[in-house]
Amino acid sequence: MRLALFDDYRLGVVSEDETTIVDLTSGISGHNTDPLTAGWWRELCRDWRVLAPRFVELVDSATSIDLADVTLRAPALGPSKIIAAASNYAAHVEEMHGVQERTLGAVEEWMMNFDVFLKAPSSISDPGQPIMLPPSVVEAGNEIHHESELVVVIGRGGFGIEREKALEHVMGYTAGLDITVRSPADRSRRKSYDTFSPLGPWIRTTEDGFDGSGLDIVLTVDGEVRQQVNTRDLIVDVAGIVSYASSIMTLMPGDIIFTGAPPGVGPIASGEVLDSSISGIGHLVVPVA
Ligand code: MN
Repeated sequence: MRLALFDDYRLGVVSEDETTIVDLTSGISGHNTDPLTAGWWRELCRDWRVLAPRFVELVDSATSIDLADVTLRAPALGPSKIIAAASNYAAHVEEMHGVQERTLGAVEEWMMNFDVFLKAPSSISDPGQPIMLPPSVVEAGNEIHHESELVVVIGRGGFGIEREKALEHVMGYTAGLDITVRSPADRSRRKSYDTFSPLGPWIRTTEDGFDGSGLDIVLTVDGEVRQQVNTRDLIVDVAGIVSYASSIMTLMPGDIIFTGAPPGVGPIASGEVLDSSISGIGHLVVPVA
C-alpha cells in the first residue's frame, strides 16, 4: 500500500499507477490537522500491522481523487528522532577518501566505519518543497551534498530488537535525501539545517510483504544520473540497522531511519532539481533554492 499524508495532514492511499489517491481521514480516530498534535499518526504507525487489513477494505469503498489535485506532505509527523546510517555502501566509503581530502584537507578514519547518528526532526521537508541552502554555508565556501537514501519508517517501536525480528518493526519505506554540508563541524549540525531531510513521496508499507532488499535507488540532478545503487549492496542491511539502532536508543513509532548514502555524492546548487527514485516506492522530486 502507498500510504500518504497530503494537504493539511490528511491521510490517503495512492493507487498503484500513482495517478489517484483516496482520502481515508474520516476513518482515523483522533485525527487532527495540527502537526503539533501528531499522536494519531504515531498510533497509526504503532498499530499498522493490525489496522492494515481494514485499510484495504476502506480503500475499496472510498472515492478516488486525482493525485495532481493534492499536495503531498512528507510521510512523517512529529517523529521522536531521525536516525541515519553512515558509511553503509563500500563504494561510498571508498569515494569519501577523495571527498574528505578535497573538503577537509584530511581523511577522518572514524567516519569510514558504519555507525548511526541523529538528524533534527525539524529538518524534514515535503516532496516538492525546495531545499534551502543556508547563506552562511554558501558564503563560507563549503560544499553541500546530496545523499539519496532508502528510508525506513518504524511501526511498533522497541529497545534491544533482535535482528531476526527487526523487520516486524518496520511499517514501511520511503525515499529520503540526507542533505549534508561537508565541513569539519559535527555531523548532527551539518545535516540538520531546515529542509535538509526531504522525505516522500509516500510510504510503501510492508503488510503485503514488500521489503527494502533488492531495490534500485537512482538520483538524477537536472536529468543527469549522479547516484545509482541497489540496496542489496548495503553493508549493514535494514534488519541490521534497526537492531543496532535499537541497542542504543528506544525506537518509537513513526521514527525515521536513513539507511546510508550510495556512491556518487556531490555538490548541489541553487536552481537544480533533484529526482530521487526507488523501485517499488516512487519518485521524490525536490528543487534547490
Ligand atoms: Mn547519509
